[in-house]
Amino acid sequence: MTSTSLRKKRSAGSATLVALGGVLLGGAVFAVLGDPSEASDGGGSGGSGESALAGCTDRGDLDDLGGLTDPTRQAWLAAVDAAAADGAEMSLTSGYRTCQHQQRLFDEKVDEYGSVEEASVWALPPDESNHVRGIALDVGPGPAADWLQDHGARFGLCKTMSWEWWHFEYDPEWERSESCPDPAPRP
Ligand SMILES: [Zn+2]
Repeated sequence: MTSTSLRKKRSAGSATLVALGGVLLGGAVFAVLGDPSEASDGGGSGGSGESALAGCTDRGDLDDLGGLTDPTRQAWLAAVDAAAADGAEMSLTSGYRTCQHQQRLFDEKVDEYGSVEEASVWALPPDESNHVRGIALDVGPGPAADWLQDHGARFGLCKTMSWEWWHFEYDPEWERSESCPDPAPRP
């Protein structure tokens, strides 16, 4: 039931509507359990048809490492080895996330910051998150992230957001060119 509750919270699109979750839950349960064909189409089941999860596709019920795309995982494992050889012990704080997991994080940020805009600085909705796409990795601890920032390009792993020292993404073009683009400035 949690998932349908979260789905409705997100589709409400605003923290102020979260309180309606309980009311909406009944309808959501019917939409998901009562008529799977309707739920999967997303067209007509009473709501706006714009569930945030509608545009989100899970890679499967996989773990942080297992859910990464193959090139991303290979790049990560190679980087871990190279970091270890340099004396930096790198660990994966968060890798692949399911749509539902990302939705939960996003909802928590909306609750914390009180607006979708500010929440999106810290956690994107599931249909926009590169963690859900399996190409983003949160790395720790700090010194290891520093190592990856200095050496990640040759693995195609780059820090993409200037305000999140722990967040890296994989791109084959970065690996080919062995160079990273400038991280995006904080919105
Ligand atoms: Zn991240």
